[in-house]
Amino acid sequence: MKSHVQVAVIGGGVVGCSVLYHLTRLGWRDVMLIERSELTSGSSRRLRFDALIVQLRHAPRWQMVAPHRPAGNAVRALAWLGPREVDTGLEAIMPKLSAEDFGELAAARAVLPIWMAEPLSALIAHG
Ligand SMILES: Cc1cc2nc3c(=O)[nH]c(=O)nc-3n(C[C@H](O)[C@H](O)[C@H](O)COP(=O)(O)OP(=O)(O)OC[C@H]3O[C@@H](n4cnc5c(N)ncnc54)[C@H](O)[C@@H]3O)c2cc1C
Repeated sequence: MKSHVQVAVIGGGVVGCSVLYHLTRLGWRDVMLIERSELTSGSSRRLRFDALIVQLRHAPRWQMVAPHRPAGNAVRALAWLGPREVDTGLEAIMPKLSAEDFGELAAARAVLPIWMAEPLSALIAHG
């Protein structure tokens, strides 16, 4: 860890993350966020808006693959559907992916959970 930075933001709650985001948007690069536990592990994790309770959760790394690209969106859609709906989801998604996107999705199998990687491999094996 660096011992000197231009700005050290202490605390990775909504306020600290927002400060870090806006500093980097303004072009600050020598900035660091210091969090003693996990990001959003403080009061930001659970917010109540009248009857609505919003709880922030950490997404596993594999759900972050291919950000802003169709292959990544496919992974996140399948993650949302879950293991029971993965086959139906794949059927719906496949026709919408280009060959390049499908290649990227196939390449991501190594980091995907087994319940998603296996049906994908089966699809590849059967053409
Ligand atoms: C009980 C409660 C209920 C609330 N309900 C609502 C609501 O319904 N609606 C709403 O809009 N707002 C609500 N708020 C307010 C809202 O949650 C807070 O204003 C907002 O989340 C505060 O964000 P924060 O980033 O300042 O703090 P936090 O989200 O608490 O983040 C602080 C972070 O700093 C870290 N940290 C602390 N000390 C150190 C240290 N020394 N070194 C490194 N890291 C450190 C902590 O681990 C934590 O991750 C509520 C607050 C509380 C306490």
